[in-house]
Amino acid sequence: MSSSFHLLICGGGIVGKACALALARSGLDVTLLGACPAPSLPAQDYAQRIYAINAASRQWLDALRVWPQVPQDRIEPIRAMHIRADGAQLVFDTRDTQGEALAWTAESDAIEAALDLALRFERQVVIDPAQASQISRLPDASGWQVKTRDDRTLHADLLIGADGEHSLVRRVSGIAMDTHDYMQRGIVAHFHCAAPHEGIAFQTFADGGVLALLPLASLHGRHQVSLVWSAPEALAIELLALPPEALAQRVEAHLPALGARHLGPLRPTGAAAAWRLQRQLARRTAGEGLVLIGDAAHRVHPLAGQGLNLGLQDVQVLAHVLQQRAAGQAPADARLLRRYARARAEQVLALAATTDALARLYGGHSRVPAPLRALGLHATNALPPVRQLLTRYASGLPYLVS
Ligand SMILES: Cc1cc2nc3c(=O)[nH]c(=O)nc-3n(C[C@H](O)[C@H](O)[C@H](O)COP(=O)(O)OP(=O)(O)OC[C@H]3O[C@@H](n4cnc5c(N)ncnc54)[C@H](O)[C@@H]3O)c2cc1C
Repeated sequence: MSSSFHLLICGGGIVGKACALALARSGLDVTLLGACPAPSLPAQDYAQRIYAINAASRQWLDALRVWPQVPQDRIEPIRAMHIRADGAQLVFDTRDTQGEALAWTAESDAIEAALDLALRFERQVVIDPAQASQISRLPDASGWQVKTRDDRTLHADLLIGADGEHSLVRRVSGIAMDTHDYMQRGIVAHFHCAAPHEGIAFQTFADGGVLALLPLASLHGRHQVSLVWSAPEALAIELLALPPEALAQRVEAHLPALGARHLGPLRPTGAAAAWRLQRQLARRTAGEGLVLIGDAAHRVHPLAGQGLNLGLQDVQVLAHVLQQRAAGQAPADARLLRRYARARAEQVLALAATTDALARLYGGHSRVPAPLRALGLHATNALPPVRQLLTRYASGLPYLVS
């Protein structure tokens, strides 16, 4: 592609960095704005943000030669997931897949560092750490003008918004966003546990929210789990005010309900952090000379651990669509951008609807009686084909672009 075509990605989180890498590998020149190197990993414990990476993301990151650069001793395969509620249990395990694991837990900073390393060898990527401060459409509609906080002006023929939940790109595009506030916060903390977790992720619906313990790889011979507690606002404020040891005790009180009594006692490895939980769906993910990817396009409830995976699949599809363009067709061609938007709509809507339904079903205001919910879990558990279908969709594999 001639370097007179300017492709600019705004936002250098995991999705933005992965997008820069994938597009450069398909032969495009890319400027990545707002990208800083990932912080180095703490030696003794885990960095705060942990992600469950599904099979489709892992396979794709493998193909990009990024996954092998993530320290393998800090990755844990999730071999089973035990979901308990209202006295019923639903178990997903590797028998439901043809793969070795349902997903893998890895640190956000470790994945970003592996992307940084890969990007260092890509001559077609210009990494610019500046943030965009103003974006406007050029009067002749030939592209976008992007002003940076350090007072420079850049030009983009195709602008890719990878700038997260408060996306400036989305705001200037005029694309509307449907937002639902779950009135919950996702509390994250890590704990040493007394016994091995055997690669099991435990999840229960409690106190109007969702409490999950994800398995982490043992570091220095110590077993560890990561908590994601999607707690209603008032409870979240109360939990966040607790010292780490007291929070550990509150989590311990739920170990029997999780079916994980053997993990206690829990010892905190640091302070908790929290994120407000919202469902946000952009009504369109493509506009004139512009596309949205990652959290700029969609945010879903974290109970299924799929937000980042969705963003990475946006990138795969976008890279594929741009690579398949006809000779002489510009990457900003409206037909290509619409093709990307259409290709992403189904998976994003299906996942948003599923996570939303579960969050509401088990939220504090659910009208569905507990025995009926228990019957639903029992029934799903008793039907291997249904479990296999759900596992397959959660793996992202049906949407993997070859
Ligand atoms: C509690 C919790 C647990 C989760 N667990 C999982 C999980 O297990 N698995 C999973 O797949 N997902 C999970 N998610 C979702 C996941 O965190 C997000 O989907 C993912 O971080 C989105 O990545 P992103 O790169 O799109 O956005 P971000 O990570 O928000 O990155 C956006 C980037 O854009 C930059 N930026 C912003 N504005 C500008 C600007 N004006 N100019 C330049 N740059 C800009 C920012 O600095 C940032 O670097 C979880 C979410 C929560 C809240």
